[in-house]
Amino acid sequence: MSAKSSKAGSEWIDISVTLHEGMIAFSSEPLLQLERRRSIARGHKANNTTIHMSVHSGTHMDAPRHFVADGKTIDQMPFDITLGRARVIEITNPVSIKAEELAQHNIKRGERILLKTHNSPKFWQADAISMDYLYITRGAARFLVEAGVKLVGIDALSVGSPVDPDTTTPDTHQILLGNEIWIIEGLNLTGVNPGNYNLICLPLKLKDTEGSPVRAIISKL
Ligand SMILES: [Zn+2]
Repeated sequence: MSAKSSKAGSEWIDISVTLHEGMIAFSSEPLLQLERRRSIARGHKANNTTIHMSVHSGTHMDAPRHFVADGKTIDQMPFDITLGRARVIEITNPVSIKAEELAQHNIKRGERILLKTHNSPKFWQADAISMDYLYITRGAARFLVEAGVKLVGIDALSVGSPVDPDTTTPDTHQILLGNEIWIIEGLNLTGVNPGNYNLICLPLKLKDTEGSPVRAIISKL
């Protein structure tokens, strides 16, 4: 699913998913629609499409405002959060991302971390959304806060547990966003090797909004 293109010696890898009608989404979210309002094939002079979607569709970012009432919004994101060096870490645990596993990777202050799990490619190949995807545990989220990372990405539509009976303590989203760690969800890291990359990923400038779809690409450093 990931497209590759080469230019001037660097190979860019597309780690975004294609937005299309019928794509998987949580049942709590509206289905994405591409309304072809005008179409040359139907006799119009031009093609013209309207999109209907959640800002949490496909590959997207969560700004602190998603879970923090007065948190920063997506249009306030500093470019430094998503432009520059990022590290892909491959998670071997088949169930969840735990602090103990992250602790083996010498994560440093200010890093951008993209977590590749067994979700790639399984999560994106399914016809319906899988609710047994790998997620970041509360302990791992607290570990990432302690480590001082600025960005965390994951290859599932949520960083948090799909079944979380605990409603009394801060969950993964609240821990990360409450500490101004910005999040990319919905990455497709199929075929991407662990290591250091240059990341380019920008959200739309949506006023006072808690998230946005993004196009994310990486090239090996
Ligand atoms: Zn989201």
